[in-house]
Amino acid sequence: MFCWLSRLCGELSTPTRRTTQLIWSSAARSMVLSSQRIPELSSFVARTNTCGELRSSHLGQEVTLCGWIQFRRQNIFLVLRDFHGLVQVVIPQDESAASVKKILCEAPMESVVQVSGTVISRPPGQKNPKMPTGEIEIKVKTAKLLNSCKKLPFEIKDFMKKTETLRLQYRYLDLRSAQMQYNLRLRSQMVMKMREYLCNLHGFVDVETPTLFKRTPGGAKEFVIPSREPGKFYSLPQSPQQFKQLLMVGGLDRYFQVARCYRDEGSRPDRQPEFTQIDIEMSFVDQTGVQSLIEGLLQYSWPSDKDPLVVPFPSMPFAEALASYGTDKPDTRFGMKIVDISDMFRNTEVGFLQDALSKPQGTVKAICIRKGAKYLKRKDIESIRKFAADHFNEEVLPIFLKTNENWNSPVAKFIMEEQGLGLVKLLETQEEDVVLLTAGEHKKACSLMGKLRLECADLLEARGVVLRDPALFSFLWVVDFPLFLPKEENPQELESAHHPFTAPHPSDIHLLYTEPHKVRSQHYDLVLNGNEIGGGSIRIHNSELQHYVLDTVLKEDVKLLSHLLQALDYGAPPHGGIALGLDRLMCLVTGAPSIRDVIAFPKSFRGHDLMSNAPDSIPPEELKPYHIQVSWPMDAETEKSSSNHPCRSES
Ligand code: ASP
Repeated sequence: MFCWLSRLCGELSTPTRRTTQLIWSSAARSMVLSSQRIPELSSFVARTNTCGELRSSHLGQEVTLCGWIQFRRQNIFLVLRDFHGLVQVVIPQDESAASVKKILCEAPMESVVQVSGTVISRPPGQKNPKMPTGEIEIKVKTAKLLNSCKKLPFEIKDFMKKTETLRLQYRYLDLRSAQMQYNLRLRSQMVMKMREYLCNLHGFVDVETPTLFKRTPGGAKEFVIPSREPGKFYSLPQSPQQFKQLLMVGGLDRYFQVARCYRDEGSRPDRQPEFTQIDIEMSFVDQTGVQSLIEGLLQYSWPSDKDPLVVPFPSMPFAEALASYGTDKPDTRFGMKIVDISDMFRNTEVGFLQDALSKPQGTVKAICIRKGAKYLKRKDIESIRKFAADHFNEEVLPIFLKTNENWNSPVAKFIMEEQGLGLVKLLETQEEDVVLLTAGEHKKACSLMGKLRLECADLLEARGVVLRDPALFSFLWVVDFPLFLPKEENPQELESAHHPFTAPHPSDIHLLYTEPHKVRSQHYDLVLNGNEIGGGSIRIHNSELQHYVLDTVLKEDVKLLSHLLQALDYGAPPHGGIALGLDRLMCLVTGAPSIRDVIAFPKSFRGHDLMSNAPDSIPPEELKPYHIQVSWPMDAETEKSSSNHPCRSES
């Protein structure tokens, strides 16, 4: 099938005028490709057809089109654009049509016009095979300027580079680009397919849950909303977790929602303070049931121009993910796995390896970078070692294998022949490979190696090596998580690996009361190309057990959840669910550089809406009904002035 996404991406890098036409043609095609029934695109409105749909089969038809002026050539031709594509309009030159000519020649680019005329064939030699409407043009009879366009802050051409700050400030203009149109339309289509699959094929009920809620213990920081009752605040929910469980108690049986979630967490490139989840909960289900549902859901809603998904997705225990990839979200599109080489170095003379191995949890880990000696530069290795020292307080040793015997490394002389040969065998090294080696506590050493693995992959790809096929979607279930993890700030205390409502593995329940850190959970994450795109669990449906976990293990304030604990006592069915991060999923599906590119009106990196300037200040008298007052920080003046110009501080 015609793979228009790769064309789309490929063409974006070729800055020609034709590019825009091609992108629009692709966008137009997408809509036909992805739905069985071609929708009525011109019902109820002032046009008869869309710009993108006209073909030779329309020859002779009288049409009325509405669109934006994309391009004008010598006051003879005009290219009109709407969401569906581009069409060439012939500006009449005869005296009798002087008023039409005036409108079409004087309207600035991006003005919005309505034209009526006849679909005619383009003269021989003037057909444009690259344009879906390239066989025809419109012989205009009447034209109306619907609205004129002022000088734009940037041109609406995909190849025009513009800063993201500017794009976000004028988001409504940025949305006119073919790429944004494509991203948002594909998102809409996938969500529609998901609804179809869940509601029509599997009897799920779409239920809206409240946005004004109360504080929930544990998890992410929440946004707080003042109320008119003194000292009382709502919180915006991190997710509809409690509500969906309560819906199961309420007998809804199968719930789903395209749910808006809110987390007041620091800025990260793949996070937004408000984001969307496909939120799901089912009664009487086990882990396999939820996983099969999600595989079916993604398979059903997957864009038809991509290779169909193969299910079931592979599964990997959390411990293996950590040991082999140094993370709970492994990118399985390429190898370069972490290998434990501790045993090989028990008799080493290398100081820091000896040191690490003398400790109880001490290990030696390695990754092999194929052809690293050819592609990595000295400065790359230096920056890798600096990263390890700065962020992990660990040493990393590079071993260059010019030939299998020639160890070109600071420690080479200490690595005995036997160890060298062992390394070659275990890591299957070949000429020109580089081995990176580190030592330390298992989890920390793996986590460092996992980061270096990704860093080296980026470096190799920047030098032209193809490691990760851009067309590959590598899904993976990560399973068998521990129920609790030591808190980062205080490792003596435990926190939930997923959330406090996650059920322990049935065969580990007894350990909850003796060695809670050893309990495995019924939690599963879905990973795509190294990104966590979903997570869920089977829930605790026994009130006593839930109370014990919250109170005794997690030391949370149980009163905050008394409603949920109470509900579990009234015949709560066994239940479980999952949530898919829609923004991240769409970002990966469209190949967008950022999740902001698949959200119509995203917040900036610092959580601001650069278009409307939110969050904004409120005069003190408007705060009075909420019984709150701003306590201005010392540098309030700076804050105030920068909030008037959010863009200046965002780029
Ligand atoms: N509520 C969870 C989350 O937002 C997902 C789930 O457990 O269903 O991560």
